[in-house]
Amino acid sequence: MQDSVRARMSIEDFEQLVIEAIDSLPEEFIKRLDNVDITVESMPTRAQLAQQGIPDDSLLLGLYEGVPMTARQNYGFVLPDKITIFQESIEMACATSEEIVHVVRDTVVHEVAHHFGIDDDALHALGL
Ligand SMILES: [Zn+2]
Repeated sequence: MQDSVRARMSIEDFEQLVIEAIDSLPEEFIKRLDNVDITVESMPTRAQLAQQGIPDDSLLLGLYEGVPMTARQNYGFVLPDKITIFQESIEMACATSEEIVHVVRDTVVHEVAHHFGIDDDALHALGL
């Protein structure tokens, strides 16, 4: 993590990128997003990392928490799914704002796929 090459962006610009990434998803996906909040945080908490079994020093760009749609039998009266996009983590992984645009989009697609019940192994196979 070299701070010297890290790209930075205002929170407003970053949130706008997340909104654009969601808007760029196929219409069919947007219509099917169900009971999910998408938010921006700067970094994951230690608790979030621990829950995912991710070491403290690794970079987590986005996080999906919730009940995937494929697992929603008897689903009701539960908290919405939550997708969090981590601005600082993404900035640390990127040297330019163009890179941030791409990484935000990839991260949004990846986490939305989890909402639809596609796991990491399957995403890997798809190159996502
Ligand atoms: Zn994942």
